[in-house]
Amino acid sequence: MLNPQRAALLRLWNHCLDCETCTATDEHGVNADLKCPAADALYEEYRRAPRHQDLSTARGGRP
Ligand SMILES: [Zn+2]
Repeated sequence: MLNPQRAALLRLWNHCLDCETCTATDEHGVNADLKCPAADALYEEYRRAPRHQDLSTARGGRP
């Protein structure tokens, strides 16, 4: 199992890779950095997630 903070970060990444708003680019092909409420919510979740890591479950693996 991932620790809660890492799991929240992965959810944020997965969202950003998939989300039309988060991946929108401007005319130069640069990320347009649009405001995405869903990404904001996931980021908040990540910020609030407990950081401490239980060593018995910390293997750094994927789910
Ligand atoms: Zn998004």
